[in-house]
Amino acid sequence: MIAQVIVDIAAKQTDRIFEYHVPEELTDIEIGSRVFVPFGPRKLQGFVVGLSETSNFTGVLKDVLLVVDELPPLTPELVELSAALADHVFSYRSTILKTMLPRVMRANYRKILVPLSVAAKKLPFFQGPPIDLTQVTDAKEIAFVRKLLRKNQAKIEYLVENKARIKTVNQYKLTKTEKDYRAIYEKLRKTAVKQKTLLMDIIENYEKYPKLQSAIESDLQVNTATLTAAVKKGWLKKTTIEVYRDPLAESTPYESKQIVLNEEQEAALRQIIPSIQQKKEQIFLLEGITGSGKTEVYLHAISETLKQGRNALMLVPEISLTPQMVRQVKAHFGEEVAVLHSGLSDGEVYDEWRRIRRGEIRVVVGARSAVFAPLTNIGLIVIDEEHESSYKQEDTPRYHARDVAIWRSRYNSCPLVLGSATPSLASRARAQKGVYQLLRLTKRANNKKLPQVKLIDLKQVEFAGGQFDLAVELVAAIEDRLARHEQVILLLNRRGFANFMLCRECGYVMKCPNCDLSLTMHKDTGRMQCHYCGYSEIIPQRCPNCQSKQIRFLGTGTQKVQEELLDLLPTAKILRMDVDTTRRKGSYEKILDAFGRHEADILLGTQMIAKGLDFPNVTLVGVINADTGLWVPDYNASERTFELLTQVSGRAGRAEKKGQVLIQTYNPEHYAISLAQTQDYERFYGYEMQVRHAGNYPPYFYTVLISVAAKKEQNAAREAFQIKRRLQANLHKETIILGPTPSAVSKLKNQYYYQILVKYKKEDSLKSLLHRIQDSAQDVKKYGLNVYIDNEPERIM
Ligand code: ADP
Ligand code: ZN
Ligand code: ZN
Repeated sequence: MIAQVIVDIAAKQTDRIFEYHVPEELTDIEIGSRVFVPFGPRKLQGFVVGLSETSNFTGVLKDVLLVVDELPPLTPELVELSAALADHVFSYRSTILKTMLPRVMRANYRKILVPLSVAAKKLPFFQGPPIDLTQVTDAKEIAFVRKLLRKNQAKIEYLVENKARIKTVNQYKLTKTEKDYRAIYEKLRKTAVKQKTLLMDIIENYEKYPKLQSAIESDLQVNTATLTAAVKKGWLKKTTIEVYRDPLAESTPYESKQIVLNEEQEAALRQIIPSIQQKKEQIFLLEGITGSGKTEVYLHAISETLKQGRNALMLVPEISLTPQMVRQVKAHFGEEVAVLHSGLSDGEVYDEWRRIRRGEIRVVVGARSAVFAPLTNIGLIVIDEEHESSYKQEDTPRYHARDVAIWRSRYNSCPLVLGSATPSLASRARAQKGVYQLLRLTKRANNKKLPQVKLIDLKQVEFAGGQFDLAVELVAAIEDRLARHEQVILLLNRRGFANFMLCRECGYVMKCPNCDLSLTMHKDTGRMQCHYCGYSEIIPQRCPNCQSKQIRFLGTGTQKVQEELLDLLPTAKILRMDVDTTRRKGSYEKILDAFGRHEADILLGTQMIAKGLDFPNVTLVGVINADTGLWVPDYNASERTFELLTQVSGRAGRAEKKGQVLIQTYNPEHYAISLAQTQDYERFYGYEMQVRHAGNYPPYFYTVLISVAAKKEQNAAREAFQIKRRLQANLHKETIILGPTPSAVSKLKNQYYYQILVKYKKEDSLKSLLHRIQDSAQDVKKYGLNVYIDNEPERIM
């Protein structure tokens, strides 16, 4: 048998199938298997994408060395998907295959120096652990290694290592009858207290064995030594069993509420259910205002899917994978739910993933990359908050989870439900055309009114405190809630906005030397930090440019607002949620749980707190500055602003108590802000479509962004112009080619960026042209040039 293998090197030359002979003994090889194969002098990890009896190759095929996993990590569906997706996002297939798998399944490559001669083996150099050449950095040692190699005293061996580790625990089994143990107990000397305790437990709980080591140790207060002694004496037999790391082991359970669907929910569900039953690949857009009970519709649809004997995949944005939401799903579907998100450790992800692959799971809930879950027999896919830009991966491979979900719904012949209060313009436009079926929920599920939203015009207000961040009216409203023991959510949207240093004497702004971005002040660490590359330096006392002392720190950060709030409202308890306070694993969950228990009055945070949260006691939502995302030079800045304001407004007044929203802005007349006040998505959609039409932007045009990066600015520019000429020569006149221009942030990590935006309606040859451009990019790579192609970019800056 011959295996067709994609090897683990992301390069043009290796982006194809290599054939290997399968030795007799590797009977467990299948399509989707992970294998180790020889490749030149090296050993590499690879994936089997096909098996055949014959080959056209005339030489002698090398043997597959090893099949790594018991069960092939990739299903035939994922193998097929990898080819389609590589083509769609202009990526190498090996890159896609790697993206599909948990991080621990990425191979670890090591270069080991092995002594050859007897004399070399005796050298002190070789006496320790094996020598990994990637770790040898000392110049003298390197010279020594070279000499050994030159004289044939040593050779290099390439190793691949599997990093995936299964977690096991120890378990102890009994070896004798109860009567035997009694006899042993009687004969034991009195002073052997620990051993007597153990034996007594065995006699009293004979039926309960085998027991886990952890259980025995904690129940009996004995330690490992006692158990080891018992094994030595033949009383117990030690075995290991595989366990899953359970990410939810310590969280409090959630009681499943029995909810009767309202009419609108019922109507939506009635449309979806037939396509679940008839296995139709239909796409629904569930447009429902915040609090309209979309989740309940998803859960009912999932139940129906399980009833039909099929499985369900549900995607939610990382930030709404709140403990609340996960518990709710677990409460409904119990043990057969797997959860995948970035808060899990690599080991936990690997375990959840294995449960899915083994068919122990029927419902998968996860963020973007969960769209690659190895779930089979899928009968329904749900994407909640489908407008979220986090569904698009910003690095290679630049895929959109929605596109992958559409592909999988076609492959599995099953419906796909896209849900949102503020659908992406692209999806809403497709629903307009009848490509997707539109389902609408126009009322809040529990008949609560939408909160009243008021705009505060910052051009005309009086500020409380000395920082010009908080209007008197907003502070008064917060005080009022505190007096009534109600809670407040405050949003500080920091997109394109931070705490930077400006010299009032010479106008100098302190920037990162590697990136074209201003440094952000972090008071707690006392440093100015680059949020992109991590560069940092001490907060200056004087302007680094002119030595003036007239320096100011402008912009607003969550820390600064927190300090000001504490000044103005000394008794308020405030929880802050931003990248700094949520870096540690589990801290996000802790903050939300604490707020849910009313341990704080105010939750102050960035975009993270805008979506998905459902706290009944929150009656006031404040937006500190609605404009920060508005002037970002991106065609979808208005869409993002409208969506953020609508979503965060939806956090107020979700239960019995009435909600209010106060939005501070310098631009109350801008349509993205004024329409967010009335939370009128449909009107916003109509207006924004006109704007897009006038500007020739999506969804009227398709877009592709080509970026060129290089260390020298003129090299990036030259290559970009060359690409533009190639595009012009091959594309229709109606197609619009913008650029090349330096990107909005033209320098990042010491690389200059130039970009070209192609806007087109129909270009049959564009895809193959872009593939050729990508191939030629490989040739210039050696000069330090990188070309990136982003199909349907979410950001053009
Ligand atoms: P959305 O996701 O559309 O913003 P949710 O699904 O979070 O809304 O629902 C908002 C609230 O309404 C939740 O507390 C939910 O339990 C409740 N809810 C949903 N459906 C109903 C219903 N039919 N009757 C009463 N309450 C409901
Ligand atoms: Zn200065
Ligand atoms: Zn930087």
